[in-house]
Amino acid sequence: MNESDSRAGELARLFEESLSRYQAALAEATSESALRVVHARYAGKEGEIRKRLADALKAAPGPDKRAVGQAGNTALQKAEELFGSRLVDLHEQKRQADLQRRLDVTIPGRPHRLGGLHLLTQVRLELEGIFAELGFQVATGPQVETDFHNFEALAMPKDHPARDMQDTFYLRSHDPSHDPLVLRTHTSPVQIRTMLQQKPPVRIISPGKVYRKDDDPTHSPMFQQIEGLCVDEGVTMADLKGTLLYFVQRFFGPGIGLRLRPSFFPFTEPSAEVDIECFFCKRSGCRTCKGSGYIEILGCGMVDPEVFRHVGYDSEKYSGFAFGTGLERMTMLRYGISDLRLFFAGDARFTEQFR
Ligand SMILES: [Zn+2]
Repeated sequence: MNESDSRAGELARLFEESLSRYQAALAEATSESALRVVHARYAGKEGEIRKRLADALKAAPGPDKRAVGQAGNTALQKAEELFGSRLVDLHEQKRQADLQRRLDVTIPGRPHRLGGLHLLTQVRLELEGIFAELGFQVATGPQVETDFHNFEALAMPKDHPARDMQDTFYLRSHDPSHDPLVLRTHTSPVQIRTMLQQKPPVRIISPGKVYRKDDDPTHSPMFQQIEGLCVDEGVTMADLKGTLLYFVQRFFGPGIGLRLRPSFFPFTEPSAEVDIECFFCKRSGCRTCKGSGYIEILGCGMVDPEVFRHVGYDSEKYSGFAFGTGLERMTMLRYGISDLRLFFAGDARFTEQFR
């Protein structure tokens, strides 16, 4: 055996050794990506077999290079075949596993639980709809208000006693020279903002969350108001009463009458409380109406000229009415709900009754 033959034998042994380790590594790889990593490590550009081939070519004398190259190519070809067949095996395994997976199409599905609007949202939308029939548009505003919009412009200066009835939450301002900020105590600031932005005629309702320092079964520190404002030439108290009667009969039921009782609000003059005939007892007296036959539902009045002065309306030319009520109160009355806190507790046993 000459020197050249023994070198060829040595090289073939080296390739065989690489290939057998390569094959073992392929057998251990169980995914296509793992397979490709193994392939790169042995048969790739920087792989072991190519490296061994390059080294052998460098070391072989001229006449032997051809034979070395051939042996290397044979080894690389073998490596490709091993890789290809292992890849086919792996795909076949996966396909078989898929075929064996059992799917019972007769098992009943899991139904999606359908959500619904909260009762308060339903009632708010209904109220908005009723007033839309009379041409009122919905207006909204910020819940954090300036003292000016919440009190001052509504004829409640800093020392006004009416502020006591609406004690609220104050926010610390970054700028002490800034008008103090409060969580609004009513949605009336929306009326001010609307009037500052547009000239009469104005016909809006403003629903929204408001805040006061109250907390008991019929009062919550957060509740929702819905207020209305109508300003135009020649608006009278008769328009106010007609609007409210329309609302009451659409919301509580046909034929229900109402009465106005003189009252006081800082931003209306004259002011009135509105009672509706008790629809539980038809005025014969019951627990809900405390035997009086009437239920108080809202406050209202003719807009005070002082309010018009703050927003730059000519009170000689224009007049208007405003009213406001609590969304929770309206809802509790109509559905006979006794505890305000049920609205906010998030108990599905309660909320699901009003789908
Ligand atoms: Zn009654």
